[in-house]
Amino acid sequence: HNQPMGSWSNEQIGASVKENVMLTWAPSKMKNNLPIITHGEGVYLWDSNGKKYLDWTSQAVCTNGGHTVSENIKSAVAEQLDRTPFVYGGMAMCEVRARLSNIISSVLPEGLTGCAFPSSGSEANEAAITMARRYTGKTKIINWYRSYHGGTTNSLEATGDFRRWYIQPPPGFVKAHNPNPYFFEFAGATEEEKTEMSLLMLEEQILYEGADHVACIMLESIPGAAGVLTLPEGYMQGVRALCDKYGILLHLDEVMVGFGRTGNMWGFQHYDGVVPDIVTSAKGLSSSITPISMVAVSDKMMEFFEENPMGWGSTFQAHPVAMAAAYANIKEMLSNDVIGHVQEMAPIFEAHMKECASSHPSIKQYRAAGLFGALDIVSPDGTQPHHFNAPRTEATAAYAKAFNEVGLIGLFRPPVIHIAPPLIINEAEIKEGFEKQ
Ligand code: PLP
Repeated sequence: HNQPMGSWSNEQIGASVKENVMLTWAPSKMKNNLPIITHGEGVYLWDSNGKKYLDWTSQAVCTNGGHTVSENIKSAVAEQLDRTPFVYGGMAMCEVRARLSNIISSVLPEGLTGCAFPSSGSEANEAAITMARRYTGKTKIINWYRSYHGGTTNSLEATGDFRRWYIQPPPGFVKAHNPNPYFFEFAGATEEEKTEMSLLMLEEQILYEGADHVACIMLESIPGAAGVLTLPEGYMQGVRALCDKYGILLHLDEVMVGFGRTGNMWGFQHYDGVVPDIVTSAKGLSSSITPISMVAVSDKMMEFFEENPMGWGSTFQAHPVAMAAAYANIKEMLSNDVIGHVQEMAPIFEAHMKECASSHPSIKQYRAAGLFGALDIVSPDGTQPHHFNAPRTEATAAYAKAFNEVGLIGLFRPPVIHIAPPLIINEAEIKEGFEKQ
């Protein structure tokens, strides 16, 4: 794993990255502690000094298949490159698009079809918001405060987590409280009472906003970046019932949890009987080998758009090479029974999470679903910091440095540590991660 890449040694690569301006989203305090990665294999990555890291959050919870690309996926990509690297979806169709659409529809509940393939989760949500508005002729979208839906204009407006930083957000996005809003715990309420109160509040909001104006309730099946906020029993079924009662679409954002993360193909499969009208996903769709996302909509919506085409698109939507990788990735996921493997690893993963939470005084609690976990950190005085007040840059930088030292690449969004390794991780590697953690 110390092989030179091309004509450059790993050391030369490291020196070059350090010398050249590196503009990333990260402030330099944090950026300077980031490893310079030269290559990877399985659940591991290596830096330019030859140091080995366990990928403890699948990067941005997206390299679900790990860092080794199988021969099948490589040859699917090569074959598409040989045929043609690109045709524009608005001017020409290609065979891989039909194949991808078919395989996605086959893993979705009946009545949902994978129909659009933009390049990122944000764009998928952007397209879905436009579709919901066009289909219903209504404008308002209800989302949770504790949520992340993307970085483009509408997907950022749908996001609750960063809302307080805006001076004046555009109208049209209405924020509802999550059933488990982290700090405000519905003191003393049982799970059933929490669910009931949350649904009553949501219904009240629909009525005040006017059901005639609400196009869609758009939620993450399990809020991920907000801290793996698993939902109380019966809540999502209640949301579905409210949508049906008031003629509102239900859009479930599966960008992070879709394609096996929580031990089911889709996060919403944890909620018996719930089928959304719109599903968006990305990340695990191609295991991030190529940038690609998806929008799936109900048959009724498909019929509507047959008659009423929508002026939405982007040059790289339905990119043939990206679709070839996604198709081969899904096929491989199914033939290797990755979901069965996640189900097998889940209790082992959860036992470690539990042990972590009970043995560390700085950890208040854990949440886990499949290979998707979060640990809540407490302040040195033992109190739980509010999500808003947690020190961001310093804490994140300190954490990245500490992880770097022990050989983990992980994600800390104060006050939550995220743990979401590649879905192919084995028992020994899970143990190794928690020992380092
Ligand atoms: N939706 C959810 C639930 C996400 O977790 C993310 C990214 O983390 C997005 C949307 C945005 O996806 P992307 O970063 O690919 O634009």
